[in-house]
Amino acid sequence: MFDLIIIGAAAAGSSAAIYSARRKLNFKIVTDDIGGEVALSGIVNNWPGILEIQGFELAQKFHEHVKSYGVEIDQGFRVEKIISEKNYHIVLAKSASGEEKQYKTKTVIIATGIHPRHLGIKGEEELNHKGITYCTVCDGPLFKNKITTTIGSGNSALESALMMAGIAQKVYLISKYTNTGENNFGFPKGENILIDKIKTLPNIEIIYSATTTEIIGDKNVTGVKYTDTTGAEKSIETQGVMIHIGQIPNSQFVEVEKNAMKEIMVDAKCHTNIKGIFAAGDVTDVAYKQIGVSAGQGIIAALAAIEDINRWSE
Ligand SMILES: Cc1cc2nc3c(=O)[nH]c(=O)nc-3n(C[C@H](O)[C@H](O)[C@H](O)COP(=O)(O)OP(=O)(O)OC[C@H]3O[C@@H](n4cnc5c(N)ncnc54)[C@H](O)[C@@H]3O)c2cc1C
Repeated sequence: MFDLIIIGAAAAGSSAAIYSARRKLNFKIVTDDIGGEVALSGIVNNWPGILEIQGFELAQKFHEHVKSYGVEIDQGFRVEKIISEKNYHIVLAKSASGEEKQYKTKTVIIATGIHPRHLGIKGEEELNHKGITYCTVCDGPLFKNKITTTIGSGNSALESALMMAGIAQKVYLISKYTNTGENNFGFPKGENILIDKIKTLPNIEIIYSATTTEIIGDKNVTGVKYTDTTGAEKSIETQGVMIHIGQIPNSQFVEVEKNAMKEIMVDAKCHTNIKGIFAAGDVTDVAYKQIGVSAGQGIIAALAAIEDINRWSE
């Protein structure tokens, strides 16, 4: 029986592991990958003590720190289910090759983050990685001097278009909202400083009130189809499609209390509603999805789990 299983190995999971190792818990990390969204964050300028660092380097440093304590990591395993008994939990995980593992543990910390929402339209699945990306920071540089299209209407879409304006020849930005004051000029949740910047850039063309209906291409992306407010279908030529329409928490494998957005609801000590199961970082209903916030919650979850373990009895 483990004291603790930590699921996820990025900001929240690594911080939880460092605290758990220093308290000499009998624990393991079970994770799909190392680094999660931290590794995909591009340049990070807000991790205290480091003025500027690439996300993948910061993730590497988290990993080195965790490994320095000799923490065991089962990497390449996705947790598929947690079965909770009276005073312990069974964590079931599977690798891409089908290998299955299960862990009996007193406590669990879920630090599984979020993943990008998909449009669910024709061509999206078929052309994924063939011109479609959900991470402009990661793949944007592949589209040097090409035509790209960013789809979305939040800050992440605005940031994507801004980044691509410096790389691509031309950038389309498709928003489903109308360009009116009540919709904050096409970007209801967008920051105005970003919107204003975008409007000054000559190689960005914003298409408002548009619903993307298909991504076209054979071997690679060649275009995007959308309908306007009249329902008429139009198409644009593009070689790259950046999809930024929101994020979905990786919380489907566990039956704990979640909000409407499927974020795991936690209290100030990162307890879920199931005794012995804690959650930390982007996967929770914490207010701001940031590396520092996730790391802080990972620490809280570890310390709270230790309190539980100290009081555990057969
Ligand atoms: C493009 C971009 C730029 C960003 N820039 C910044 C920035 O500059 N500064 C900042 O503070 N924040 C930034 N962020 C936000 C930051 O990346 C997140 O807040 C942070 O990564 C959250 O950390 P986390 O540990 O909660 O989750 P994640 O980093 O998402 O890690 C989740 C971990 O869980 C694992 N996992 C997921 N599901 C399972 C499963 N079922 N079984 C096993 N393992 C699983 C994953 O493999 C991964 O190891 C950015 C995000 C993006 C997308």
